[in-house]
Amino acid sequence: MKIAILSRNKDLYSTRRLIEACEQRGHEPMVIDVLRSYMDVVPSKPEIHFKGENLGRFDAVIPRIGASVTFYGTAVLRQFEMMGSFPLNESVAIARSRDKLRSLQLLSRKGVGLPNTGYAHHPDDVQDLIKMVGGAPLVIKLLEGTQGIGVVLAETKKAAESVIEAFMGLKANILIQEYIKEAGGADIRCLVVGGKVVAAMKRQALPGEFRSNLHRGGSASLVKITPTERATAVKAAKVMGLNVAGVDILRSDRGPLVMEVNSSPGLEGIEIASGKDVADMIIAFIEKNAKPNKTKTRGKG
Ligand code: ADP
Repeated sequence: MKIAILSRNKDLYSTRRLIEACEQRGHEPMVIDVLRSYMDVVPSKPEIHFKGENLGRFDAVIPRIGASVTFYGTAVLRQFEMMGSFPLNESVAIARSRDKLRSLQLLSRKGVGLPNTGYAHHPDDVQDLIKMVGGAPLVIKLLEGTQGIGVVLAETKKAAESVIEAFMGLKANILIQEYIKEAGGADIRCLVVGGKVVAAMKRQALPGEFRSNLHRGGSASLVKITPTERATAVKAAKVMGLNVAGVDILRSDRGPLVMEVNSSPGLEGIEIASGKDVADMIIAFIEKNAKPNKTKTRGKG
Protein backbone atom coordinates (compact mmCIF):
# COMPACT_ATOMS: atom_id res chain seq x y z
CA MET A 1 0.00 0.00 0.00
CA LYS A 2 0.99 3.61 -0.53
CA ILE A 3 0.86 5.22 2.91
CA ALA A 4 1.23 8.98 3.54
CA ILE A 5 2.58 9.99 6.93
CA LEU A 6 1.64 13.59 7.69
CA SER A 7 4.51 14.76 9.87
CA ARG A 8 6.65 17.87 10.02
CA ASN A 9 9.86 15.97 10.71
CA LYS A 10 10.88 12.53 9.50
CA ASP A 11 13.52 12.22 12.22
CA LEU A 12 11.03 12.25 15.12
CA TYR A 13 10.90 8.93 16.98
CA SER A 14 7.21 8.27 16.20
CA THR A 15 7.59 9.12 12.50
CA ARG A 16 10.73 6.98 12.17
CA ARG A 17 9.02 4.01 13.82
CA LEU A 18 5.98 4.30 11.55
CA ILE A 19 8.25 4.41 8.46
CA GLU A 20 10.10 1.31 9.71
CA ALA A 21 6.86 -0.56 10.41
CA CYS A 22 5.48 0.33 6.94
CA GLU A 23 8.65 -0.90 5.25
CA GLN A 24 8.86 -4.09 7.32
CA ARG A 25 5.30 -4.96 6.34
CA GLY A 26 6.02 -4.32 2.63
CA HIS A 27 4.37 -0.92 2.19
CA GLU A 28 5.53 2.29 0.57
CA PRO A 29 5.57 5.15 3.11
CA MET A 30 6.02 8.81 2.22
CA VAL A 31 6.50 11.52 4.83
CA ILE A 32 4.66 14.72 3.93
CA ASP A 33 5.04 18.02 5.76
CA VAL A 34 1.46 19.31 5.97
CA LEU A 35 2.59 22.92 5.95
CA ARG A 36 4.31 22.36 2.59
CA SER A 37 1.27 20.66 1.04
CA TYR A 38 -1.11 22.73 -1.02
CA MET A 39 -4.43 21.84 -2.46
CA ASP A 40 -6.61 22.15 -5.47
CA VAL A 41 -10.23 21.98 -4.37
CA VAL A 42 -11.87 21.84 -7.81
CA PRO A 43 -15.17 19.98 -8.02
CA SER A 44 -14.88 16.17 -8.37
CA LYS A 45 -11.11 16.18 -8.88
CA PRO A 46 -9.38 17.14 -5.63
CA GLU A 47 -5.57 17.14 -5.72
CA ILE A 48 -2.73 17.57 -3.26
CA HIS A 49 0.59 19.00 -4.32
CA PHE A 50 3.89 18.89 -2.45
CA LYS A 51 7.05 20.73 -3.53
CA GLY A 52 5.87 21.11 -7.12
CA GLU A 53 4.61 17.56 -7.50
CA ASN A 54 1.06 16.23 -7.76
CA LEU A 55 1.03 13.52 -5.10
CA GLY A 56 -1.69 11.35 -6.61
CA ARG A 57 -3.68 8.93 -4.51
CA PHE A 58 -2.62 7.15 -1.33
CA ASP A 59 -4.31 4.05 0.08
CA ALA A 60 -4.00 5.32 3.63
CA VAL A 61 -2.88 8.38 5.52
CA ILE A 62 -1.42 8.57 9.02
CA PRO A 63 -1.99 12.03 10.47
CA ARG A 64 0.60 13.17 13.03
CA ILE A 65 -0.63 16.72 13.28
CA GLY A 66 0.81 18.88 16.07
CA ALA A 67 -1.58 20.99 18.16
CA SER A 68 -0.18 24.21 16.70
CA VAL A 69 -1.01 23.24 13.10
CA THR A 70 -4.48 21.72 13.69
CA PHE A 71 -6.32 24.17 11.42
CA TYR A 72 -4.22 23.70 8.28
CA GLY A 73 -3.32 20.09 9.10
CA THR A 74 -6.93 18.93 9.31
CA ALA A 75 -7.69 20.75 6.01
CA VAL A 76 -4.92 18.75 4.30
CA LEU A 77 -6.19 15.54 5.89
CA ARG A 78 -9.73 16.35 4.67
CA GLN A 79 -8.35 16.64 1.16
CA PHE A 80 -6.84 13.13 1.46
CA GLU A 81 -10.24 11.89 2.67
CA MET A 82 -11.97 13.52 -0.32
CA MET A 83 -9.53 11.64 -2.54
CA GLY A 84 -10.61 8.35 -0.93
CA SER A 85 -7.53 7.63 1.24
CA PHE A 86 -8.23 5.78 4.50
CA PRO A 87 -7.32 8.07 7.42
CA LEU A 88 -5.94 6.39 10.55
CA ASN A 89 -7.88 9.04 12.46
CA GLU A 90 -10.49 11.16 10.68
CA SER A 91 -10.13 14.93 10.39
CA VAL A 92 -13.39 15.59 12.28
CA ALA A 93 -12.31 13.38 15.17
CA ILE A 94 -8.93 15.14 15.39
CA ALA A 95 -10.55 18.59 15.37
CA ARG A 96 -12.98 17.43 18.06
CA SER A 97 -10.18 16.09 20.28
CA ARG A 98 -8.24 19.37 20.03
CA ASP A 99 -11.02 21.28 21.77
CA LYS A 100 -10.61 20.28 25.43
CA LEU A 101 -14.03 21.55 26.50
CA ARG A 102 -15.86 19.94 23.63
CA SER A 103 -14.05 16.67 24.36
CA LEU A 104 -15.01 16.75 28.05
CA GLN A 105 -18.62 17.55 27.15
CA LEU A 106 -18.80 14.61 24.71
CA LEU A 107 -17.22 12.24 27.22
CA SER A 108 -19.52 13.37 30.03
CA ARG A 109 -22.57 12.94 27.81
CA LYS A 110 -21.63 9.28 27.34
CA GLY A 111 -21.00 8.72 31.05
CA VAL A 112 -17.20 8.46 30.95
CA GLY A 113 -15.68 9.25 34.39
CA LEU A 114 -14.11 12.74 34.47
CA PRO A 115 -12.68 15.07 37.10
CA ASN A 116 -15.30 17.65 38.09
CA THR A 117 -14.60 20.49 35.64
CA GLY A 118 -15.87 24.05 35.30
CA TYR A 119 -15.60 26.83 32.76
CA ALA A 120 -16.65 30.46 32.92
CA HIS A 121 -16.15 33.55 30.82
CA HIS A 122 -16.75 36.43 33.21
CA PRO A 123 -14.53 37.19 36.24
CA ASP A 124 -17.69 37.89 38.32
CA ASP A 125 -18.65 34.22 38.01
CA VAL A 126 -15.35 32.87 39.34
CA GLN A 127 -16.38 32.65 43.03
CA ASP A 128 -19.38 30.48 42.23
CA LEU A 129 -17.43 28.43 39.71
CA ILE A 130 -14.82 27.56 42.34
CA LYS A 131 -17.63 26.45 44.66
CA MET A 132 -19.17 24.36 41.86
CA VAL A 133 -16.03 22.25 41.35
CA GLY A 134 -15.69 21.68 45.11
CA GLY A 135 -13.35 24.48 46.22
CA ALA A 136 -9.57 24.51 46.71
CA PRO A 137 -7.21 22.84 46.12
CA LEU A 138 -7.98 22.91 42.42
CA VAL A 139 -6.24 22.73 39.07
CA ILE A 140 -6.39 25.56 36.54
CA LYS A 141 -5.62 24.75 32.90
CA LEU A 142 -5.01 26.88 29.86
CA LEU A 143 -7.15 25.37 27.10
CA GLU A 144 -4.38 25.84 24.53
CA GLY A 145 -1.66 24.32 26.75
CA THR A 146 0.24 21.12 26.01
CA GLN A 147 2.97 19.15 27.77
CA GLY A 148 1.86 20.43 31.17
CA ILE A 149 2.58 24.08 30.37
CA GLY A 150 -0.26 26.24 31.68
CA VAL A 151 -1.44 23.64 34.22
CA VAL A 152 -1.40 25.19 37.70
CA LEU A 153 -2.26 23.74 41.11
CA ALA A 154 -3.87 26.34 43.37
CA GLU A 155 -3.72 25.11 46.97
CA THR A 156 -6.05 27.75 48.44
CA LYS A 157 -9.18 29.59 47.34
CA LYS A 158 -7.26 32.89 47.41
CA ALA A 159 -4.50 31.50 45.16
CA ALA A 160 -7.11 30.07 42.79
CA GLU A 161 -8.89 33.42 42.52
CA SER A 162 -5.70 35.35 41.73
CA VAL A 163 -4.50 32.87 39.12
CA ILE A 164 -7.92 32.73 37.44
CA GLU A 165 -8.17 36.54 37.45
CA ALA A 166 -4.67 36.82 35.96
CA PHE A 167 -5.47 34.34 33.16
CA MET A 168 -8.82 35.98 32.44
CA GLY A 169 -7.12 39.39 32.39
CA LEU A 170 -4.86 38.04 29.63
CA LYS A 171 -7.95 36.84 27.73
CA ALA A 172 -6.74 33.25 28.02
CA ASN A 173 -9.27 30.42 27.81
CA ILE A 174 -9.09 28.31 30.95
CA LEU A 175 -10.92 25.53 32.69
CA ILE A 176 -10.81 24.69 36.35
CA GLN A 177 -10.86 21.20 37.70
CA GLU A 178 -11.07 19.37 41.00
CA TYR A 179 -7.60 18.26 42.12
CA ILE A 180 -7.30 14.47 42.28
CA LYS A 181 -4.85 14.30 45.16
CA GLU A 182 -4.97 10.53 45.57
CA ALA A 183 -3.50 10.09 42.05
CA GLY A 184 -0.21 10.96 43.80
CA GLY A 185 1.32 12.87 40.89
CA ALA A 186 0.83 9.89 38.57
CA ASP A 187 -1.34 9.20 35.57
CA ILE A 188 -1.90 6.24 33.27
CA ARG A 189 -1.50 6.57 29.50
CA CYS A 190 -3.44 3.90 27.61
CA LEU A 191 -2.67 3.50 23.93
CA VAL A 192 -5.82 2.42 22.10
CA VAL A 193 -5.61 0.96 18.58
CA GLY A 194 -8.80 -0.21 16.85
CA GLY A 195 -10.88 -0.46 20.03
CA LYS A 196 -8.23 -2.27 22.11
CA VAL A 197 -5.71 -1.05 24.67
CA VAL A 198 -2.47 -2.35 23.13
CA ALA A 199 -0.03 -0.77 25.60
CA ALA A 200 -0.12 1.17 28.85
CA MET A 201 2.34 3.06 30.98
CA LYS A 202 2.34 4.88 34.27
CA ARG A 203 3.86 8.34 34.36
CA GLN A 204 5.10 9.55 37.73
CA ALA A 205 5.90 13.18 38.43
CA LEU A 206 9.14 14.27 40.09
CA PRO A 207 8.94 14.67 43.88
CA GLY A 208 7.19 17.95 44.75
CA GLU A 209 5.57 18.17 41.29
CA PHE A 210 1.99 17.07 40.49
CA ARG A 211 2.32 17.09 36.68
CA SER A 212 3.53 13.75 35.40
CA ASN A 213 4.34 14.87 31.82
CA LEU A 214 7.59 13.32 30.56
CA HIS A 215 8.50 16.81 29.29
CA ARG A 216 8.25 18.02 32.93
CA GLY A 217 10.73 15.38 34.13
CA GLY A 218 8.17 12.64 34.83
CA SER A 219 9.29 9.01 34.50
CA ALA A 220 7.48 6.26 32.62
CA SER A 221 7.11 2.65 33.72
CA LEU A 222 5.16 -0.45 32.77
CA VAL A 223 1.80 -0.74 34.52
CA LYS A 224 -0.91 -3.36 34.76
CA ILE A 225 -4.26 -1.70 34.24
CA THR A 226 -7.56 -2.89 35.70
CA PRO A 227 -10.46 -4.11 33.54
CA THR A 228 -12.37 -0.90 34.44
CA GLU A 229 -9.45 1.27 33.31
CA ARG A 230 -9.22 -0.73 30.09
CA ALA A 231 -12.95 -0.36 29.42
CA THR A 232 -12.81 3.38 30.22
CA ALA A 233 -9.93 3.98 27.77
CA VAL A 234 -11.66 2.02 24.99
CA LYS A 235 -14.93 3.88 25.55
CA ALA A 236 -13.20 7.29 25.59
CA ALA A 237 -11.51 6.60 22.23
CA LYS A 238 -14.80 5.36 20.78
CA VAL A 239 -16.78 8.40 21.97
CA MET A 240 -14.18 10.66 20.35
CA GLY A 241 -14.34 8.62 17.13
CA LEU A 242 -10.59 7.91 17.19
CA ASN A 243 -9.11 4.64 15.88
CA VAL A 244 -5.81 5.46 17.54
CA ALA A 245 -5.73 7.45 20.76
CA GLY A 246 -3.66 8.07 23.85
CA VAL A 247 -6.10 8.17 26.75
CA ASP A 248 -4.79 9.78 29.95
CA ILE A 249 -6.41 8.51 33.11
CA LEU A 250 -6.13 9.57 36.76
CA ARG A 251 -6.61 6.87 39.41
CA SER A 252 -9.13 8.35 41.83
CA ASP A 253 -11.01 7.01 44.86
CA ARG A 254 -14.14 6.85 42.70
CA GLY A 255 -12.47 4.94 39.84
CA PRO A 256 -10.66 5.92 36.63
CA LEU A 257 -11.15 9.53 35.50
CA VAL A 258 -10.26 10.55 31.94
CA MET A 259 -8.18 13.71 31.75
CA GLU A 260 -7.48 13.90 28.06
CA VAL A 261 -7.79 11.94 24.81
CA ASN A 262 -4.85 12.59 22.48
CA SER A 263 -5.28 11.98 18.74
CA SER A 264 -1.55 11.96 17.86
CA PRO A 265 -0.03 10.08 20.80
CA GLY A 266 3.76 9.88 20.88
CA LEU A 267 5.18 6.38 20.55
CA GLU A 268 8.57 6.78 22.22
CA GLY A 269 7.61 6.74 25.91
CA ILE A 270 4.99 4.03 25.54
CA GLU A 271 7.01 1.68 23.30
CA ILE A 272 10.01 1.88 25.61
CA ALA A 273 8.02 1.55 28.87
CA SER A 274 5.78 -1.27 27.62
CA GLY A 275 8.21 -3.08 25.29
CA LYS A 276 5.37 -3.26 22.72
CA ASP A 277 5.75 -2.65 18.99
CA VAL A 278 2.89 -0.14 18.76
CA ALA A 279 3.97 1.13 15.30
CA ASP A 280 3.59 -2.39 13.89
CA MET A 281 0.11 -2.72 15.44
CA ILE A 282 -0.93 0.60 13.87
CA ILE A 283 0.15 -0.53 10.39
CA ALA A 284 -1.55 -3.92 10.91
CA PHE A 285 -4.76 -2.03 11.80
CA ILE A 286 -4.49 -0.02 8.57
CA GLU A 287 -4.00 -3.21 6.53
CA LYS A 288 -7.18 -4.64 8.00
CA ASN A 289 -9.30 -1.53 7.59
CA ALA A 290 -8.05 0.53 4.66
CA LYS A 291 -10.51 0.29 1.82
CA PRO A 292 -11.02 3.12 -0.67
CA ASN A 293 -13.50 5.76 0.52
CA LYS A 294 -13.86 4.09 3.91
CA THR A 295 -14.29 7.13 6.09
CA LYS A 296 -17.51 8.05 7.79
CA THR A 297 -17.38 11.60 6.49
CA ARG A 298 -15.21 11.48 3.34
CA GLY A 299 -13.94 14.93 4.20
CA LYS A 300 -17.40 16.38 4.71
CA GLY A 301 -17.06 17.16 8.42
P1 ADP B 1 -1.33 18.72 29.16
O1 ADP B 1 -2.35 18.46 28.10
O2 ADP B 1 -0.66 20.05 29.04
O3 ADP B 1 -0.39 17.57 29.38
P2 ADP B 1 -2.89 17.78 31.38
O4 ADP B 1 -4.29 18.19 31.57
O5 ADP B 1 -2.62 16.42 30.83
O6 ADP B 1 -2.15 18.89 30.51
O7 ADP B 1 -2.14 17.93 32.78
C1 ADP B 1 -0.75 17.70 32.96
C2 ADP B 1 -0.49 16.79 34.16
O8 ADP B 1 -0.98 17.38 35.37
C3 ADP B 1 -1.22 15.46 34.06
O9 ADP B 1 -0.45 14.52 33.34
C4 ADP B 1 -1.42 15.06 35.51
O10 ADP B 1 -0.27 14.40 36.02
C5 ADP B 1 -1.57 16.40 36.22
N1 ADP B 1 -3.00 16.74 36.38
C6 ADP B 1 -3.78 17.35 35.46
N2 ADP B 1 -5.04 17.52 35.92
C7 ADP B 1 -5.07 17.02 37.16
C8 ADP B 1 -6.11 16.92 38.16
N3 ADP B 1 -7.35 17.38 37.94
N4 ADP B 1 -5.79 16.32 39.34
C9 ADP B 1 -4.53 15.85 39.56
N5 ADP B 1 -3.52 15.93 38.67
C10 ADP B 1 -3.79 16.50 37.48
